[in-house]
Amino acid sequence: MSLAERVVVSPELDAWLRETRRMIHVQPETMLEEFQTSALVQKQLTELGVTFRSGVGGDGRPLYLSVEQLMRAGITPGPTTGGTGVLGEIRGTRTGAGGKCVLLRADMDALPMEEDNDVPYRSRVAGKMHACGHDAHTTILMGVAEVLMANRDRFDGTVKLMFQPGEEGAGGAAAMINDGILEDPAVDAAFALHVSPGARAGQMTVTEGPTAAAADFFEIVVTGRGGHAAMPHTAVDSTLVAAHIMIALQALVSRETNPFDSAVVTVGKLQAGTATNIIPHTASLSGTVRTFDEAVRGTIERRMAELASGIAAGFGASAETVYLRGYPAMHCHPEAVQLAREVAVELLGADNVWDAPPMMAGEDMAFVTARVPGCMLGLGVANPDRGIIYPPHHPRFDLDEDALAVGVRVMSGIALRFLEADV
Ligand SMILES: [Zn+2]
Ligand SMILES: [Zn+2]
Repeated sequence: MSLAERVVVSPELDAWLRETRRMIHVQPETMLEEFQTSALVQKQLTELGVTFRSGVGGDGRPLYLSVEQLMRAGITPGPTTGGTGVLGEIRGTRTGAGGKCVLLRADMDALPMEEDNDVPYRSRVAGKMHACGHDAHTTILMGVAEVLMANRDRFDGTVKLMFQPGEEGAGGAAAMINDGILEDPAVDAAFALHVSPGARAGQMTVTEGPTAAAADFFEIVVTGRGGHAAMPHTAVDSTLVAAHIMIALQALVSRETNPFDSAVVTVGKLQAGTATNIIPHTASLSGTVRTFDEAVRGTIERRMAELASGIAAGFGASAETVYLRGYPAMHCHPEAVQLAREVAVELLGADNVWDAPPMMAGEDMAFVTARVPGCMLGLGVANPDRGIIYPPHHPRFDLDEDALAVGVRVMSGIALRFLEADV
C-alpha cells in the first residue's frame, strides 16, 4: 500500500476535524490558561487509547523568562506556569523492536484580541480569539493521533504528540522541554506545522535554515530633570533625549548590521509626560528586536545600551536599558526539511509544495529545533474566493477547513516515513 492509501482521512474524521476546530475556536483560551482545550485533548487521547502525561511543564519550574521578566516584556502570565501541557505517546507494534522517536507538536493558546468575523463559530469569549490558527494545529494533531493509532502495526518506534501551552510569548515549549519531553525515549527529530495565509488549502510550504527570528524585548528608561515647560533651561528634557535615542536606534540596523544579515528594531511603545506644560522627568521606549544570527543579536543587545547611555549623557540625562532575550531563532534542519518536502509532494503533488522565504516573527518551536533536528511546515489555509485572505493576528483571520485533513495526512505521513514504516 502507498503512503497516500495509508494516511486516509475518512469523511467521518474530516467532519470531526471541522467540528472540533470550531469547538475550540468558539472557546479560545489565552496562554497558560488552556484548561478546557487541554481537557479536550486528554479526553480525545483517552478515547483513542493513546497513553499521555498531563500537567507537563507545570511542575513549578520557571518558564524561559521569570514571571517578573514576562510582565516587563508586556506579557501577563496566567495563573499557572504551563501546567496545561500534554504529551501523548504512540508506540509502534510492527516487530516489537525499539525503533526511532519522532515528536510532532501543536500549540493550544489563543490571542488577547477581539474577533471581527461574522461566522457561526465566532469567538464567544470577549477579547479573546484564535487568530493564529492554533485551534487548527491542536485539532490536526488529535487527527494525526487517530490515523497513527490505525497504523500502529505498520511501524516500530515512538511518536510523541506535544500539545503545548503558551506559544504566544510565554515559552510553553521551553517549560515542556524542562520537564523532560525530549528524553525517555530520546527524540530523534521534531516536526510542526503553522497555518499560512500565503498558500491555499491543499498546499504546503517548507523553509530551510533560518525560518523564524529570535524575538527579544527591550525597555530604555531615560531620566532627565523635570520642570516647567516655559523654563526648559532649568530642566533636562527626557522626551527630547528619548526622541534622539529612538532615531539613533535605527542606525543599529542601517549602519551597524551587515546588509546581508537581517535585523529589525521596532519601538512599539514610547511613553512620557502627563500635561502640556510640564517637562517630564522620565521617558521610556520599549519594543522588540528580531534577528536570525546570534552574533548580530549580541551586537545589537550591546550597542543599544551603549547608544542610549551615550546619547543621554550628552544631554545631561541618564538612560537605563533592560534587554530580555525572548525566543531564539528557529533553524529548520536540511534533512528534516527534505523529508517533509518529499512527503508533502507525494501526498499533495509537486505543484502544491514550494519553498517559502523566512519571516521575522518569533516561534516557540525554536526551543525544540535548537535541541533536535526538525522543521516547521506552512499549511496553506487561504481561500480568496471566500474572503479568507487575512494574516494571523488579524481580527478577521480565518481558515479554510479543507486544510485540516491536509495537515493530518502530511503530518501522519511524515511520522510514518521518519519511522521507516511499512508503507
Ligand atoms: Zn501567533
Ligand atoms: Zn502561531
